Amino acid sequence: MVISRNHACAVLLAGCLWISAVDAWAQDSSAVPALARDANVAAAIQAAKADEHNTIEQQIRICEVPAPPFNETARGALLKELFTAVGLRNVRTDRVGNVLGERPGLAVHPHLVIAAHLDTVFPEGTPVAVTRRGTVLSGPGIGDNCRGLAVILAVVRALDKGGVKTTGPITFVANVGEEGLGDLRGMKELFGETLEGTVDRFVSIDNAGLGISTIGVGSKRYRVTFNGPGGHSFGQFGLPNPANALGRAIAKISEFQVPREPRTTFNVGRVGGGTSVNAIPADAWMEVDLRSSDPAQLAILDRKLQQAIDAAVLEENARWSRRNVVTATKTLVGDRPAGVLSSSAPIVTTAQAVAHALGLEAPLAESSSDSNLPLSLNIPAITIGGGGGSSDSHAVSETFTTVDSWEGTANAVLLAVALSR
Ligand SMILES: [Zn+2]
Repeated sequence: MVISRNHACAVLLAGCLWISAVDAWAQDSSAVPALARDANVAAAIQAAKADEHNTIEQQIRICEVPAPPFNETARGALLKELFTAVGLRNVRTDRVGNVLGERPGLAVHPHLVIAAHLDTVFPEGTPVAVTRRGTVLSGPGIGDNCRGLAVILAVVRALDKGGVKTTGPITFVANVGEEGLGDLRGMKELFGETLEGTVDRFVSIDNAGLGISTIGVGSKRYRVTFNGPGGHSFGQFGLPNPANALGRAIAKISEFQVPREPRTTFNVGRVGGGTSVNAIPADAWMEVDLRSSDPAQLAILDRKLQQAIDAAVLEENARWSRRNVVTATKTLVGDRPAGVLSSSAPIVTTAQAVAHALGLEAPLAESSSDSNLPLSLNIPAITIGGGGGSSDSHAVSETFTTVDSWEGTANAVLLAVALSR
């Protein structure tokens, strides 16, 4: 792996002139109001406001193209078309389906990436028509994340309208694989391959509101299957039982002690197995979700889970004085790295100064989102809302409210300028 200067700085912390030179400007949040008053930037912000109706039209259009998990192709093709239409350069689709387009800067650095995820949580066949009643739009994914996708396009239009020239280039990305078992596969490809070692700062625009997420809650998800020969409940009585082993494991998991801070959680979400009430099952399974904002705590919790499963298997076999009859297979089905950014990090103070300069409130939050991946690589990254309001995310009854939604677009425009200087 190529270590970019940014990575090297993050590792060395002190004595890195390049990063301090670049981020020294961003650290000076008092510079943001002046930037907002710059004639070109002010024109871009005004353009974002004046153009909000187009942004909303585009949000609806994007949302009426389905993007179920692991099949974002159709929506990706539309974004490729829209990236081209809005004048981005070198518009392309990478190996996993991320769509990229560039807006050149005057120099090569800082290289800012602004991304929005394409995928939804809704399976193939979910009706995607959007209905509109006054200021309320209803449709699956209308906030999460058709809003983010529409806003990145609006940012490009506004910057061009204002004639804004940024110091560094901005790569706009409509990425795959943010939701659920998508497991950040879009980000893993983007940072591991497509743009490896070239990204200085990262902003994901996700859903509504104006919050700034600085903590990427990491997660690990396992599907654990206990297997045995199985047999007749009466005739084969005395045979170790995979369901019993599962029960033993769950009993141990339910007693795990975890810190309140950093917030660390565990959940047995689904269980299943067996074929009949009068048969010793040949299999029993569970799906387990572990989360923490701290990578070390997540690793500790992960070890506890492994030990609980192994002990449950041993105990179930020992109970019937047998060995290796019941076994367990642990399959990692989700792995999102954790990452935390200090609230005094330049990208955070800049984002807060941007909102403040526009007279907006932007609360800090934690989430599990695309920013987890760059944060885990020590690349400054935040996830922000695209403005407006939303409710019922991840439900087919999802809505988005357009009241003052232009504020989110304007916020993204000024942030794009502030982070690409
Ligand atoms: Zn989202």
